Amino acid sequence: MAKVMIVGAGGVGSVVAHKCNSQPEFTEILLTSRTIEKCNKIAQSLNSPKISTAALNADFVDDTVKLLKEFQPEILINVALPYQDLALMDACLAAGVNYLDTANYEPPDKAKFEYSWQWAYQERFQAAGLTAILGCGFDPGVTGVYTAYALKHYFDEIHYLDIVDCNSGSHGQVFATNFNPEINIREITQRARYYDKGEWVEVPALSIHQPIDYPEIGPKESYLLYHEELESLTKNIPTIKRARFWMTFSESYINYLRVLESIGMTRIDPVQYEGKEIIPLKFLKAILPEPASLAENYTGKTSIGCYIRGIKDGKERQYYVYNNCDHAESYQEVGSQAISYTTGVPAVVGALMLVKGFWNKPGVFNVEEFDPDPFMELVAKLGLPWQEIMDPQSPFVD
Ligand code: NDP
Repeated sequence: MAKVMIVGAGGVGSVVAHKCNSQPEFTEILLTSRTIEKCNKIAQSLNSPKISTAALNADFVDDTVKLLKEFQPEILINVALPYQDLALMDACLAAGVNYLDTANYEPPDKAKFEYSWQWAYQERFQAAGLTAILGCGFDPGVTGVYTAYALKHYFDEIHYLDIVDCNSGSHGQVFATNFNPEINIREITQRARYYDKGEWVEVPALSIHQPIDYPEIGPKESYLLYHEELESLTKNIPTIKRARFWMTFSESYINYLRVLESIGMTRIDPVQYEGKEIIPLKFLKAILPEPASLAENYTGKTSIGCYIRGIKDGKERQYYVYNNCDHAESYQEVGSQAISYTTGVPAVVGALMLVKGFWNKPGVFNVEEFDPDPFMELVAKLGLPWQEIMDPQSPFVD
C-alpha cells in the first residue's frame, strides 16, 4: 500500500494516472503539473476518491519539497519534461522520497542529453537510502529490460544490439509529434550517433536509413538516431560491441521537419520578436497539436523491440523481443494514444517494482541494472504483452 505523486499531466501523465488508479497497491494519488486545469481534467475523467490534484511548477525545488512533505508519497513519478529531472531529484532527496522518470536530463539551452548529470546523484541517493529509477518508459525503459532479460536467460555475452521503434499509426494531422513536440524535435534534429567497437560514431541527422520489416506491420523505412539507452546499456553490458537505435518516420514527416529546420523554426536560441525574446521551437510547440489530443482518431500500431546477437555456450545466437500496441485499443482503455500508453504503463510498472520491493536498492539506476523477471511479468499483465522469436530473420546484413 503506497501513495504516489505524479508530476506532469500531458499525454503520458494521463496514462500514468489512469493505470495508478487501477492498481490496488496505490491507495492515494496526487497528480500535479504546471497547468492545474490539465490535472483536473484527468481527475474528472477518472472520478476516483483516490486522486487529488495540485498546481506545481517543478522548476522550483522548494515548492515540490513542500508538496512532498505534506503528501508523503513513497515514490514520485516524473512525467513532466527532461528539463525538470534534476530539480525533482533534488526535491526527492530533500523530502526523503524515491524517484522515477522516463527521459534523461537535458539542459534547456543545449539540445544534448546524457546521463552524467543524473548519475552524479548516485552517492546522495545511496546515502539517503533512496532509489532513483532512470528512464522507465518504453524506450528508454522496456528496451533496457528486454536486453537484461535476454542476457539473463539466453546469452552468455551480448555482442550486437539494434533497438527498432516503429509507429505505423495515423492520427490524421498534417504534422504532429507523438510526445512533447519540443523534446521530440530536439531529439530528431540532433546528429545521429551509434556505438561501434568501444567508440561513438557520429553522422548527420537522418542520414542512415533502411527498411525494417516489423511484425504484423510490414517493411517501414527506419532511421538511425541517437537514443539515451544506448549510453547506459553499453556501460552496463560491456560485452556489447555495437549498439544502434532505429526509428520509423514517414516521408511527409521528414519533409515537414526539413522545411521547419531550414527556415529556423526549430532553433532553440532566443530571437527578438516585437520587443520580446522568443525561442522559435517553443513557439512551434505552442501551435502544434498536443500529444494527448491526437488520441481520439488514431489508428494503427506501434511496434518496438530489440534485435540481439551474441553467444551462448560458445555458439552464436540471435533473438528478437518486441511489443505491438494498438492506438485505438489504448484509446478505448485509457483515452490515450499508443505512444503515451507505451511510456506510461512501464513507468507505473517500475513504480510498482519499487513498492513491491523488487527494485528498491539505494542509489541511482537504469532499468537494466535490476532483475528483469518481475517487470516482464507485470508489464505484460498491465497491457504491454511481449513476444519473442529465437533466431529471427534479421533485417541487418552485418
Ligand atoms: P506533454 O507535453 O504532453 O506533457 C508534459 C507535461 O509536463 C505537461 O502537462 C506540462 O505542463 C508539464 N510540465 C512542463 N513543464 C513543467 C514544469 N516546469 N512543472 C510541472 N509540470 C511541467 O508530454 P508527454 O506526456 O508526451 O511526455 C512526457 C515525458 O515523457 C517527456 O519527458 C518525454 O520525453 C517522455 N517520454 C518518454 C518516452 C519513453 O519511451 N521513455 C516516450 C515518450 C515520451 P503544461 O501543460 O503546463 O506545459
